[in-house]
Amino acid sequence: MISKLQQLKENALAELQTAKTEDQFLAVRTKYIGRKGLLTGLLRNIAQVSDAEKPLFGKLCNELKNLLNDKIEEELQQQAIRNKEDVLLKEKIDVTLPGSVIKCGRIHPVIQIRREICSIFASFGFSVVEGPEVELDYYNFEALNIAKDHPARDMQDTFYIEDNIVLRTHTSPVQVRVMEKVQPPLRILSPGRVYRRDSDVSHTPMFHQIEGLLVDKGVSFGDLKGILTAFLKKIFGEGTTLRFRPSFFPFTEPSAEVDIRCVMCGGSGCRVCGQSGWLEILGSGMVDPAVFENVDYDSEEYSGFAFGLGLERIAMLKYGISDIRLFFENDIRFLKQF
Ligand SMILES: [Zn+2]
Repeated sequence: MISKLQQLKENALAELQTAKTEDQFLAVRTKYIGRKGLLTGLLRNIAQVSDAEKPLFGKLCNELKNLLNDKIEEELQQQAIRNKEDVLLKEKIDVTLPGSVIKCGRIHPVIQIRREICSIFASFGFSVVEGPEVELDYYNFEALNIAKDHPARDMQDTFYIEDNIVLRTHTSPVQVRVMEKVQPPLRILSPGRVYRRDSDVSHTPMFHQIEGLLVDKGVSFGDLKGILTAFLKKIFGEGTTLRFRPSFFPFTEPSAEVDIRCVMCGGSGCRVCGQSGWLEILGSGMVDPAVFENVDYDSEEYSGFAFGLGLERIAMLKYGISDIRLFFENDIRFLKQF
């Protein structure tokens, strides 16, 4: 019996040597020291051992049982640690690897200029209003004193949708819409997209305008000059020189175009200013009484001034951009610079 036990011990240890997985260790345990295991079987047959050998046999059986138990328990623990390490190795984060680059969007230069202009006029008490881009002929032309035979209505310049519906050619119709609803005094600014059939280095079929209107009692041309001068000095710098030049618009009388000293050449003459030393920046004038009559404002009591400017033109001059089409090509390399 003792030699049988010896043989069993050798077999069990050999099997433990070759076991690798948790299942294999558990199988060895069941095979030898489980309830129906080989070692358990030997112990159950202790009656066959001579009385003299019984104590020794019992002792050896228990030692072997404890030995197998301890070895298997230890292996299982090692196995658990190895499993955990495997998981950690697989999920390891290499903090030295470069991160993925997050691409930041930029605010489009035209929108930047729009925000800057709106905030300057907000400090003068103007509020921003918006209107439709698809506009009735009445608001785009007629209410602004642009008669049926006026050249501005030419098919060459205007996108017609129907006979009396156009894509607005300027943001001025918003003024009429506001004046129909709101009684003076008022100070409004209407930025937005406008459309004209035109395309070259300084024209695109769609561009952005900002139109301003101030109506109150006793508004004079001096107020117009004061506000526009303050505005242009904020946009182009305190040292900006400007001049007011008589002009003509159907909806203002008198009208004036405002020029600034060329920001490229400082007035000595260059390609941008056409050698004149001056840059045309905006159109303005005192609101024509005929426009007030269209919205039932009393032109004896109220007067006001209006002005309009192109946002792309301001952005081109401010940032030194020579081709207006760059604003709308969506080239990231161009837009990233602002
Ligand atoms: Zn110049």
